[in-house]
Amino acid sequence: MDDVVWARDPTEGFILGRILEITNDGAEVVPLDSKYPRRILPFSDIFRANVEKDKDYDDNCGMMFLNEGSLLHNIRVRYYKNKIYSYVANILIAVNPYKDIPELYSSQTIKSYQGRSLGEMPPHVFAIADKAFRDMKVFKQSQSIIVSGESGAGKTESTKHLLKYLCEGGAAGPIEQKILDANPVLEAFGNAKTTRNNNSSRFGKFIEVHFDKKFQVAGGHISHYLLEKSRICSSHGEERSYHIFYMLMAGGPADLRQKLGLTKPNDFNYLKHGCTRYFTKPDTEKTLSAGQKSSAHVKQGPLRDILIDDISDFKDLDVALSRLGMADAERFQIYVTVAAVLHLGNVEFEENPEDSRGGCKVASNGEKSLTTASQLLGIDPDELKQALVSRVMQSARGGVKGTVIMVPLKIHEANNARDALAKAIYSNLFDYIVSRINQSIPFQTSCYYIGVLDIAGFEFFTVNSFEQFCINYCNEKLQQFFNERILKFEQELYKKEGLSVPEIKFTDNQDCIDVIESKGQGLFTLLDEESKLPKPAYSHFTEEVHKVWGKNYRLGLPRSSKLRAHRSIRDDEGFLIRHFAGAVCYQTKQFIDKNNDALHASLEGIVQESNNKLIQTLFSTSVAQKGKLTFISVGNKFKTQLQELMDKLRNNGTNFIRCIKPNNKMVDLQFEGSLCLMQLTCSGMTSVLELMEHGFPSRTHFTELHSMYKDYLPRELKQLAPKTFCEAMLHSLRLQDKDFKFGVTRVFFRPGKFAEFDKIMRSD
Ligand code: ATP
Ligand code: MG
Repeated sequence: MDDVVWARDPTEGFILGRILEITNDGAEVVPLDSKYPRRILPFSDIFRANVEKDKDYDDNCGMMFLNEGSLLHNIRVRYYKNKIYSYVANILIAVNPYKDIPELYSSQTIKSYQGRSLGEMPPHVFAIADKAFRDMKVFKQSQSIIVSGESGAGKTESTKHLLKYLCEGGAAGPIEQKILDANPVLEAFGNAKTTRNNNSSRFGKFIEVHFDKKFQVAGGHISHYLLEKSRICSSHGEERSYHIFYMLMAGGPADLRQKLGLTKPNDFNYLKHGCTRYFTKPDTEKTLSAGQKSSAHVKQGPLRDILIDDISDFKDLDVALSRLGMADAERFQIYVTVAAVLHLGNVEFEENPEDSRGGCKVASNGEKSLTTASQLLGIDPDELKQALVSRVMQSARGGVKGTVIMVPLKIHEANNARDALAKAIYSNLFDYIVSRINQSIPFQTSCYYIGVLDIAGFEFFTVNSFEQFCINYCNEKLQQFFNERILKFEQELYKKEGLSVPEIKFTDNQDCIDVIESKGQGLFTLLDEESKLPKPAYSHFTEEVHKVWGKNYRLGLPRSSKLRAHRSIRDDEGFLIRHFAGAVCYQTKQFIDKNNDALHASLEGIVQESNNKLIQTLFSTSVAQKGKLTFISVGNKFKTQLQELMDKLRNNGTNFIRCIKPNNKMVDLQFEGSLCLMQLTCSGMTSVLELMEHGFPSRTHFTELHSMYKDYLPRELKQLAPKTFCEAMLHSLRLQDKDFKFGVTRVFFRPGKFAEFDKIMRSD
């Protein structure tokens, strides 16, 4: 099969073929499988192939030809053998199997990975966790594990396995248990069913496991980013809102549900336009009460997912919260707050014929919900009503500030005020829960930590808004970090150590980051400036964006505007950004609203004075600054948080896990080649492979190698200088010359070869 090549294919990614004829700028390829048509391809779509029947490689760098075609092939072959993990040098690729693979994560398996160097055991998340742990000990440096991939690729599942490894390795004590308990809590309040993933995380997180000087777990800390707020007030089609709403209704004890006035999802405006069914396992279905069964649930059947069950998940949540130190009363208050959000959502408005200024009032069918919501929130229903249908403004007539006037709100404005309140309550509750978890896992005696980052990957939908803008900005930064750590660092090191390795090209994306975050005129700044104007308008903001950045390669007109002769921007459009992973059009319509975290002053005042202690607490931090502000920038907060995160990542050792979603149907045994290839390319894996083709991914200082192995060798060798020692040692072994190279300060190994060497040393 010498002349067989990988030829690019729009559905499979790559297929095997033979070159029939070389043309000017490419070749005509005949696929081996006659079901595919012949094709003429440019050289960039044709790669050398060396397919050995049924053979696969733990480390993709171990293959004879390192290219996109062979990478995809190896991952595909392994996937169908239930080997979902593989390496590209030290980076782990994890393909979501969408099924349980027996024993893959058992305690026995955990044990088998402890203290083993990377490559010694089959690729696994546990191997990465162990590497991070050992690097922390050896290099005396905190470590990060960056888990990335698109929605449904398996980031959160991988994160859970990493934490389990780090916390359970030496049997979980009470602190370890608390760190593990954080997860069901975060998922209940921050995850939801979407069309892409039944358990989609709608926030990003960085979980730090802290260790004391004896490398025992000392505590932990969770930072969270960008909870998706729009989901609180609406869910559509087959999507749901946050799990907790359904868990409470399906799994909460009857008396609790009654106290909270919770019936079924279909009775609540915030839930009823989406999927109203519960997740159940077959054996818990019968425990649903008649009332719960009478919902849409029965007509359309329950939702099935091997990992989610609203009834048992509620029980687990309740146990986890109490183990995290939240006693009965506090847990009750949390559930009360969740229910209050739903009742608030049922407060509807209608035109008020008595108001000559076009104001509105609470509709008669919303009165009861208003009362219930007020009761649950511990506030006066009349005050709440007043604050929802009107806004207090200070008139500045004649330049004199001070006269307070009530401006009645129109129906849509009252709706917005209500939703803003619901979002503020829920997202403050989420913040509160995270901070309570953090309080219960303090880490005074910490020396180092291992931080795991689980944050959404690059997103582009039919319509992209502020959320996608923020998440893609974040991915742009992470990509830069990846390039910095893996590609740039690698090349610089080779150069410094005098190894001749050809240079590899990668696109530096600093210019794209500048467009978004630069101080004077970056998009975040322009958006904030717009928001501070007396009458902010997205169309004006969009114009400014094009005025300032229109000539920059990274920014463009939305595609459909470009097609029109006059090239103006239509109302439902915004701008296009050429990201590292592709161009995305952003619709700017809701940018201003979504970028603003401020609640209007009368609403803020009411909740601050609530006689419900939890509600008071949720809004207490804001008293000083927030009360009077009309604008609090979401983008700016995220930018700052992200900067802090990047600073941490830059100070730590790094480990990458790239998760791959094999198909969009969430089923097992289906590997869609082109879908996977796109993810491998977007995550930078194909460029790394190119680099590794000529590179040496494992390296160790002479002194370190010396101290690691001196006890295994005869005394006369021990006394040699570290470099001479290493030379003598390596040349005496069965390793081939091409598998390692000597630099100025360290030895470099070809991928996988260090593990081989380590094994020989320890067994000899
Ligand atoms: P999102 O960005 O939407 O949060 P994600 O990358 O975090 O997505 P997960 O929630 O981790 O994706 O995974 C989605 C689903 O895939 C899981 O609920 C589970 O059913 C399945 N899954 C993921 N990883 C594994 C695994 N290692 N073994 C078995 N099933 C898995
Ligand atoms: Mg997730």
